[in-house]
Amino acid sequence: MYCRNCGKEVDEHAVACPGCGVAPKSQKKFCFNCGQETNPAQVICTKCGVSLASTLSLGPKNKLVAGLLGILLGSLGIHKFYLGYNKEGIIMLVVSVAGGMVTCGAGSVVVGIIGLIEGILYLTKSDEEFDRVYVQGTKTWF
Ligand SMILES: [Zn+2]
Ligand SMILES: [Zn+2]
Repeated sequence: MYCRNCGKEVDEHAVACPGCGVAPKSQKKFCFNCGQETNPAQVICTKCGVSLASTLSLGPKNKLVAGLLGILLGSLGIHKFYLGYNKEGIIMLVVSVAGGMVTCGAGSVVVGIIGLIEGILYLTKSDEEFDRVYVQGTKTWF
């Protein structure tokens, strides 16, 4: 690929361009695919036709991350906080920690199982469905 700051050819995985020291994808002055000079507002390269829109296609809320958090840290409600459901996260945390203390850990186990089920549900959904139901929508439980 080409550095989007100076147009020099750089390695695909380079963190910084050896020519100018800038992160190669952080600027928009050149096409990363052909090195052609571009206008920062351009959405596609006029020379090679490649898309110049942001390559960050993953939204801030990642299905995989939410699912794994639910499975691994579900008893603490971390996946709820991750999805922005703070109220539900606090409920899970309180039931798990305070409830767990008075029930000799049974509360934490139950909440952990809920988190596990929710994590698996997240992972079985398609990216599009996950986004629609949990990110755009506000389905807070299951
Ligand atoms: Zn450069
Ligand atoms: Zn190009």
